Amino acid sequence: MKIQEITLCGGGNGVHTLIPLALNQGLVVNIWAPYDDEALRLEKNSQEGGGIKALFPDRVFKGIPHRISSRAVDVIPGAELIVIITPAFAHQYMLQEIFPLIREGATLVVIPSRSGLEYQYLSLGFLEKRVTLIGFQTLPWACRIEAYGQKVRILGVKKYQGAANIPDKPLPFLYGQLAEIIQVQIQKMESFLSLTLGNMGQLIHPGILYGMVRQYGEQEFLQDEIPDFYQSVDDFTAGILEGLSQEIQDLKTYLAHQLNLQLSAVLPLKEWLFASYRDCIEDPSSLKTAFQSNTAYQGLKAPVIEKGRGVFILDKNTRYVQEDLPFGLLVSKGLALLCAVKTPVMDEVITVLQDWMGKEYLREGDIQGKDRMEARIPQNYGIESLDDLMGVWNKQETPEVW
Ligand code: NAD
Repeated sequence: MKIQEITLCGGGNGVHTLIPLALNQGLVVNIWAPYDDEALRLEKNSQEGGGIKALFPDRVFKGIPHRISSRAVDVIPGAELIVIITPAFAHQYMLQEIFPLIREGATLVVIPSRSGLEYQYLSLGFLEKRVTLIGFQTLPWACRIEAYGQKVRILGVKKYQGAANIPDKPLPFLYGQLAEIIQVQIQKMESFLSLTLGNMGQLIHPGILYGMVRQYGEQEFLQDEIPDFYQSVDDFTAGILEGLSQEIQDLKTYLAHQLNLQLSAVLPLKEWLFASYRDCIEDPSSLKTAFQSNTAYQGLKAPVIEKGRGVFILDKNTRYVQEDLPFGLLVSKGLALLCAVKTPVMDEVITVLQDWMGKEYLREGDIQGKDRMEARIPQNYGIESLDDLMGVWNKQETPEVW
């Protein structure tokens, strides 16, 4: 059945981009924005500005959502297609609020899924409610809000977008419609395990930040001294990124072999970067130059907070660690522990960043630190062995009752 209506959950950069795109396809667009006073501001500012404008490099889309509410009960019941676009640390709250209201047989899309989303979905009971889950590998666009409720700038558009679904069945018609809405081609990946291992944010963000924390620590910057984020990748950081990527490949090879699974969509970082940003990379000669010369990354600064008037330091609350460790690298570490696959680079990056953030996930090589419950690791969902992991996999197959 053709999609007529879409309910977007969140109020950040991605939602600002998707609103005009979905309106451009003639859809009814409703918004659930529970965070802070975002619903009010979205409503007021989009009305005053005559719509939300998404400024793509080569075109502009503009439109006003049909209904905006801070309350799930106003827009979730009856919705056939619900799309969550928030950092992963908001997923548990969003999913818990949505669960009692969502209609049986609805489709829930999470952009991006980040790692371990399937454990949350299964533990909350969405499968029994016959809700199809689609997870995207990443956000299709690099985008930043320039005026809340009025203007978002799209710095880069990915060439393609990986996605997986539970139950695991081909959904060519739905994927085709979603691709038309987001204006990016979608490639179906084998499973949510592929999404977890193929979560590139878990490599790129902690990997680059690790290099920056080692280089700058608590160093203060004036506004015009704030370093670029992606352009800061030097030979050392590129080596760390390669090391992290290789450990994911080792894990993939082990899991694919031991459990006889297809995980071929889990690409090495360099391959994924070239496939996703082919037209934006000016110098593809190495991983370092691919980051430094990627026009989609240009102008994006290191995450900082203002410490004093006009003085900045690296921000320990950035989603590059708050999201990409507990919903990224730690999930892979949790899987590596199930397989006894060694991950020295991962351990080093997690240890340095958790100390810097004032958190404790890893303790003596195991995820036994005091903050471990924040992480969407398999162990927190009762998955303690490869047999348990296989049980999750089997649940993703189409249940007979569907
Ligand atoms: P964002 O930083 O704009 O999202 C913040 C929004 O999430 C808030 O405005 C709010 O609406 C919601 N939110 C945050 N905390 C919440 C909470 N506790 N409860 C309820 N809602 C909450 O995010 P974005 O830039 O749209 O990115 C969405 C996802 O895409 C993230 O996972 C991000 O890492 C990823 N991503 C973003 C980009 C980009 O260029 N923006 C690129 C690649 C990947």
